Amino acid sequence: MDISEMAGLSIIDCHTHFGGEDLDAIDAMLEQEAASGIEQMTVLISSFPGRVNANPEGLYAKARHPERIYLFAGLDYSAIAKDVDHRWTYSLAQQIDRLAAMGCDGIKMLNGKPNYRQSSGLALDCVIYDDYFARLEERGFPVLWHVNDPEEFWNPEEAPEWAKGPGWLYDETSPSKESIYQECERVLAKHPKLKIIFAHFYFLSDDLPRAAALLDRYSNVSFDLAPGIEMLHNFAKRVEEARDFFVKYQDRIAFGTDFGPGGLDSRLWVVRNFLETDEEFHVPTDERLFWPDHRAMIRGIALPEEVLRKIYAENFRRQVSPAPRPLNRELVLAELDRLTVLQDALGAKPNAARRVAVRLAGESNSEGDWSTPYLGRAL
Ligand SMILES: [Zn+2]
Repeated sequence: MDISEMAGLSIIDCHTHFGGEDLDAIDAMLEQEAASGIEQMTVLISSFPGRVNANPEGLYAKARHPERIYLFAGLDYSAIAKDVDHRWTYSLAQQIDRLAAMGCDGIKMLNGKPNYRQSSGLALDCVIYDDYFARLEERGFPVLWHVNDPEEFWNPEEAPEWAKGPGWLYDETSPSKESIYQECERVLAKHPKLKIIFAHFYFLSDDLPRAAALLDRYSNVSFDLAPGIEMLHNFAKRVEEARDFFVKYQDRIAFGTDFGPGGLDSRLWVVRNFLETDEEFHVPTDERLFWPDHRAMIRGIALPEEVLRKIYAENFRRQVSPAPRPLNRELVLAELDRLTVLQDALGAKPNAARRVAVRLAGESNSEGDWSTPYLGRAL
């Protein structure tokens, strides 16, 4: 179905990415989303131990489009790095308070993706995260958490062609899918009120009874629909069961696409077409993370409009915030100062924090007052 024929509902894309050198690319992303009927989006900042996070770019995007962008910031792992002057760092728990005060809407975590779980050596339930999860739970601050990967990434026979390039094939030296679930579920058992949106349906699209059991046990947990195209292939194998699941758990699922700078409209279309129609259709072949694949056809589940309304926006607004939270200019500018120093210390080139600081200083957006005197402080 063409986008123009789809439901005219309010839509938030809760799973997009932004970062890198082209700060203007945020405008094109928003335009493409709008052309697909999506008026707001959540920018997720991925960060990994040993690397600098892209929070400056995310803060920039939100400062430039305060009404349309939610920001789930990345953790600053320099807190646990060597070779950093720790007078400039904050503990993972302290970072929650700081990001919330700055006006961020939540936190993104990628530490449960198997390759990062392996390279960091940090179990999801290790002591380093303990106070952090306790603080998140206490504040009810939302997390969008990528935990695990599609099961076929552990099986070279089953893995699709497109997954082999980025190095997403795992073997017996990698943590197993089940061991990662166990680590994550120990975190949930210890902090059962955590407000978590698990990315990519928590990679349980092939095991809906287990997905249901998790949602039944933890009332603040929900799943996003960002492909992972395997998700749609798995649902297509059992359309009735999938549709029943979506209707039963209509309050616990959020629309997302994994869209990013330079992304293709087909990524936005495929999730909407799956939700809104009962068509049997070929996966988009122009998207390098969907095709080539030995599985070609997927099938829509044609949800009723009252369910779509929740999945498209209401669930996210209820769980996270009715509108993007406003940034606190002073705290954002101070954070950019701090990250400028840390990015220099960690050898980040170009220093994105400095670039964003300079950019915001030279620009006024609809808030009108970013262009005052802190240029000197950031340089
Ligand atoms: Zn993503």
